[in-house]
Amino acid sequence: MRDFLREIEERKRAGLYRSRRQVSGPQQPSLTVEGQPLLSFCSNDYLGLANAPEAREALARALEHAGLGGASSHLICGHHEAHHRLEGQLAAFTRRSSALLFSTGYMANLGVISALAGRGDTIFSDRLNHASIIDGCILSRARVRRYAHGDVSALEVQLAQTPGHKLVVTDGVFSMDGDVAPLRALARVCQRHDALLMVDDAHGLGVLGPQGRGSVLAAGLSEQDVPVLVGTLGKAAGGSGAFVAGPEWLTEYLVQKARTYVYTTAMPPALAVAIGANLEAVVQGDDLRSHLAGLVRRFREGASALGYTLMPSQTPIQPILVGDNDTALALSRALEARGILVTAIRPPTVPAGEARLRVTLSAAHQAAQVDRLLDALAECRSGLPCSGVRSWA
Ligand code: PMP
Repeated sequence: MRDFLREIEERKRAGLYRSRRQVSGPQQPSLTVEGQPLLSFCSNDYLGLANAPEAREALARALEHAGLGGASSHLICGHHEAHHRLEGQLAAFTRRSSALLFSTGYMANLGVISALAGRGDTIFSDRLNHASIIDGCILSRARVRRYAHGDVSALEVQLAQTPGHKLVVTDGVFSMDGDVAPLRALARVCQRHDALLMVDDAHGLGVLGPQGRGSVLAAGLSEQDVPVLVGTLGKAAGGSGAFVAGPEWLTEYLVQKARTYVYTTAMPPALAVAIGANLEAVVQGDDLRSHLAGLVRRFREGASALGYTLMPSQTPIQPILVGDNDTALALSRALEARGILVTAIRPPTVPAGEARLRVTLSAAHQAAQVDRLLDALAECRSGLPCSGVRSWA
């Protein structure tokens, strides 16, 4: 048998050990983590809807008439009218012909990619795509060619060299960097080389585009340009689950072929109702989005003035690039000692040598809370235990 315990010890020595801690109470900026009050800057609850009273009331009401469990997969007897209604809402929200619910974004990416590409086909994947896309590519058994992050010219060279069916897949907003994919250019090269384009807009939906309709509509692109859109419901939508939206042929095909759709329990129907309520809040949420954009500007200005290295992101994902794993952990701990929670992100989630603190902002934050984060960062900038910070500028 492999020496699993030794592998765990090696992880610890390399500063790569992952640990969990218990949160009590609802997700909101002021969290209680194992009894300690902390101000959190690491959730993906971009609009502050994870604890929205309207959604909670909708959930409580829906529990009365729809009960708790999904009871089976959609194709057995689990496809509830609440799911059907939410699929309609999601199609309308993304301005697409149809939508299909999945239980998580991870499952959606595995299922969609492995259904749309197989042996003999080629998938082109941005180097910084999310782990679920990488795993979907592996599962598909297609040939996988990764292209340099956001490099459409490099992609075009690869596309031109490759015969057969081609699927190009990209995050809309990159989850660990916060930058937006060059979607217009991607759509153009895909059209030129007859490749199918898939965008995972987990972090763009709710945040970017008109009424938060996502990065694809923000780029002025339609369903014809980007036929396959994956969205998740655990981030700006404040719940959990995911969907794929696109032409009728796509959702119909996925019902036949996506194994992570066919062989898994449908999400609790009451949750679908609650997410439907949050979707209304997303559409009506221009005030939330402009407040959020103000917080992003405030953080960027403050943190760059302190000499921290930020990344070229205008979204609520605002990583502070640190480099070394131990320094990232030390900075995270130093912030925590000051009552601030920002988790360190290390390889393999990000490339080696690019460990970072992934700061995420939410419309639920107040400006004064961002200032508290900046004050704590100012203290850590000069003092121990994170004096290594000095060399980051
Ligand atoms: N895609 C991206 C870009 C993500 O960041 C994530 C999760 N953080 C997922 C997919 C997976 O979504 P879920 O959490 O719903 O499984």
